[in-house]
Amino acid sequence: MLLHRNIMSILSDRINNLSESATLKMTKLGRELAAKGVNVISLSVGEPDFNTPEHVKEAAKKALDDNFTRYSPVPGYPDLRQAIVNKLKQENNLDYDISQIVVSTGAKQSLSNVILTLINPGDEVIIPTPYWVSYSEMVTLAEGKSVFIDASIESDFKITPAQLEAAITPKSKLFMFSSPNNPTGTVYSKDELAALAKVFEKHPNIFILSDEIYEHINFVDQHESIAQFESIKDRVIIVNGFSKAFAMTGWRLGYIAASKEIAAANDKLQGQTTSGTCSIAQRAGIVAYEQGLATVNEMKKAFARRRQLVYDLLKDIPGVKTNLPEGAFYFFPEVSSFFGKKDADGNVIKGSGDLALYLLNVGHVATVGGDSFGNDNYIRLSYAASDESLVEALRRIKEALGKLS
Ligand code: PMP
Ligand code: GLU
Repeated sequence: MLLHRNIMSILSDRINNLSESATLKMTKLGRELAAKGVNVISLSVGEPDFNTPEHVKEAAKKALDDNFTRYSPVPGYPDLRQAIVNKLKQENNLDYDISQIVVSTGAKQSLSNVILTLINPGDEVIIPTPYWVSYSEMVTLAEGKSVFIDASIESDFKITPAQLEAAITPKSKLFMFSSPNNPTGTVYSKDELAALAKVFEKHPNIFILSDEIYEHINFVDQHESIAQFESIKDRVIIVNGFSKAFAMTGWRLGYIAASKEIAAANDKLQGQTTSGTCSIAQRAGIVAYEQGLATVNEMKKAFARRRQLVYDLLKDIPGVKTNLPEGAFYFFPEVSSFFGKKDADGNVIKGSGDLALYLLNVGHVATVGGDSFGNDNYIRLSYAASDESLVEALRRIKEALGKLS
């Protein structure tokens, strides 16, 4: 029995130093409460509330019937990688060939692959805050050091070129960010990306990881990738996937587009860890990309409507400050005015983690504290839920916050 010993002394330092994913933890707590019969509204996990499009599901059924059930090439089937190359050309006007594409078990694995591929112990990874929960933990796993650049609601959660320049040191190896952003929904414009690219031109040893998983959920403009700037393109690694655009979170299908050398290194790593991802998901992915964006655009219409709905309801809650996000399906309102207040049992709300737990236990709405995204003054709400659930969730949040004194 292991249990008579202190478990911390048995596990690796790597695991002892790793935090649990807050998005997944809050989702688990929400599910546990719901299993006890409580009517919980989950705004915690970021996943479309739509089903995978029919034509994609049909492609998966056909893949099974056609016996696509064996190991696939480690970086993905060539025709899936070709479909990704075609998509990058048609939608983003970016030139790649299939040797530059590595398909993985979700964008999450791609992010982890890239970090493990590039980071030596002590290397610095520059991350604008707020950032998606897993970024800094993946850097910790690789024994790198996260260097944060703070952005707040006042700057629409965007960093400036001057801030970027100031964060760079001789140890900087990688810059990683998402646009549209999780958790804020912020979208960098072409001009803003060009200004950041100018800084990277001066620092040829820094790689840029551009997480574009929310590319299709953009309410203001067409998607802009930082890979469009030729002067830095060979150092940009695009991470993307099928989870959000095609409501395929459970299928686990993501990819990178990068220089041949970085792609080959990711292929080598994946060959010693997971091998090629699920053969059936890959066949379905080809059809998703080949059949275009009609279903995504339908989803986007619903998200646009809900964004306005939640914005109006949030603005109506005293003590909550919000902006209108330009993409993804999250709000990241400022809630620090509630810190220091007490719940009905006299417990003090000390920060965003406490507030998220309070909203779950008292309001029965699952959210995620901003502390896990690098800024404790906020909480994250996903609006990938039905209009009725959103109205009810915001009513409950307002009521629960109103009870704090
Ligand atoms: N990057 C960001 C910013 C995300 O929000 C997510 C959502 N899980 C991922 C990557 C990972 O997506 P996937 O489901 O493809 O692993
Ligand atoms: N990206 C989603 C989120 O931020 C999925 C959950 C996760 O993988 O952490 O909620």
